[in-house]
Amino acid sequence: MEHNTPLISTVVVGLVLAFILGLVAQRIRVSPLVGYLLAGVLMGPFTPGYVADQNIANELAEIGIILLMFGVGLHFSLKDLLSVKNIAIPGAIVQISVATLLGIGLGEALGWSFGGGLVFGLALSVASTVVLLRALQERRLVDSERGRIAIGWLIVEDLAMVLTLVLLPAIAGLLKGEGNGASMSSLAMPVLITLGKVAGFVIFMLVVGRRVIPMLLHYVAHTGSRELFRLAVFAISLGVAFGAALVFDVSFALGAFFAGMILSESELSQRAANETLPLRDAFAVLFFVSVGMLVDPAIILREPLPLLATVFIILFGKSAAAFGIVRLFGYPTSTALTISASLAQIGEFSFILVSLGVGLGLLPDRGRDLVLAGAIISIMLNPLFFALLDRFLADKDAKAAAASEAAAVDKEKAVPRVPLPETQLKDHVVLVGHGRVGSVVSRALRLNNTPLLVIEDTPGVVERLQSLGVEVITGNAAAPDMLQAANVMGAKGLLVAIPDAFEGGQIVAKARALSPTLPIIARAHSEEEIAHLKHHGANVVIMGEQEIAKAMLLQIGATAPV
Ligand code: AMP
Repeated sequence: MEHNTPLISTVVVGLVLAFILGLVAQRIRVSPLVGYLLAGVLMGPFTPGYVADQNIANELAEIGIILLMFGVGLHFSLKDLLSVKNIAIPGAIVQISVATLLGIGLGEALGWSFGGGLVFGLALSVASTVVLLRALQERRLVDSERGRIAIGWLIVEDLAMVLTLVLLPAIAGLLKGEGNGASMSSLAMPVLITLGKVAGFVIFMLVVGRRVIPMLLHYVAHTGSRELFRLAVFAISLGVAFGAALVFDVSFALGAFFAGMILSESELSQRAANETLPLRDAFAVLFFVSVGMLVDPAIILREPLPLLATVFIILFGKSAAAFGIVRLFGYPTSTALTISASLAQIGEFSFILVSLGVGLGLLPDRGRDLVLAGAIISIMLNPLFFALLDRFLADKDAKAAAASEAAAVDKEKAVPRVPLPETQLKDHVVLVGHGRVGSVVSRALRLNNTPLLVIEDTPGVVERLQSLGVEVITGNAAAPDMLQAANVMGAKGLLVAIPDAFEGGQIVAKARALSPTLPIIARAHSEEEIAHLKHHGANVVIMGEQEIAKAMLLQIGATAPV
């Protein structure tokens, strides 16, 4: 049966297994990523039972990368990208060189040719987009200075890889010691052509894309069809990525990033970003599953020492180089550590590179296996690096507070780390959500000088509020510790002004558990939602539609039935 429908079975088995193992991982307090990767190992050819189609899994993963990079582009502007170029370009180049040299060294020790070592080292030098972005998104660092540097760095690595993939076949002959290989001048040509194509793509996007894409989205938004709007977002992100790869030979990821960046200049971008979220998450999960599928767990027993050395280069060699150069540029330790932690893993580019290397006869199969196993181990250990980073930052905060030194080295905005700092506010109003409803509420409360704390999960909104001097906690109010940090126990009331009553119900229940007497007012769109929110402990639930009806009746001088 599954042989007839390989696409369906790969998607379904992948998502179901990832869900089950992800849930188990969450229960035992490790990152769900580990569960997704193990789901892949179970579906892979090296373990008994069902074997999914690797090619299909890889393509699904590629869609995940496109949607993720599109999302990143939406939060990025050209200005952001250029503002980090001074550190991202030299940083990425030095770090790629160091990791590549270490890889060549290990290759030598394992008796491979120089070419084999070079491919191996390059594969170890590039970080995975998906892993990096997931880590930054989980910690809400995408919009911070550290996050921007990490992403800029990633873009440079991406460009370097595009160049490598083009150059490798051209210099393979030379590397294998065949006299008929490339000369310097014959190498210059492919480099120039590739750079020309990348430049062509960027210019095309800035000149044509910048006009056409926002225009198209505005037009679709005006048709009023949500379905068409969603479709437009996907068509643009996937279409530009694919077109860019087809016409300009740049990677899907880079194409999608630019499509997103162009869109970020229009005010519709936030809506566009939200439309891509659910699919983006599903495909990101499939990415991890597809990585897991590549790995033969037996390599741990077969080649323990070379594997250990490979993992060491990925986790420590690369990080040390990145740390050193970021510090050298005068950035604080916290920034350097964030960049190091972000880069201490490898992923999709490495897979593409090693397959090419093996195909060209440069890299032995053993090298590919080591890279694959190194990838899965580094991806599994990556959350650990971030946990250590969180701990380091928390310690630093504690020390800074003890010394009451306001001049903290890190100028960055507060990001949620463990544990979240608790607000000093008392007798205040806690407002969850600052959209159409929340913004009206907050304006009125500010005019009345009522102490206010907002919990909001959209970074742009957060920045705006902070610039107005409003205390904000960034993130999903339903996440652990958020309500404690907002001191709902000491608050005058909680206003849950978000449209999703399911999530609203969770927030209400959590708040109710913290304080039996807190007045909780929530927002609903239907009778069922009212019942749901009241059941979870809301004192008053306002149904938007009813209030609109009342206001309309008022306008024509009629009164609403009670
Ligand atoms: P609106 O429907 O226009 O009133 O917007 C709702 C606002 O609530 C948006 O700005 C969302 O980003 C925000 N929001 C939705 N869910 C949550 C949540 N669970 N925690 C924090 N903010 C949220």
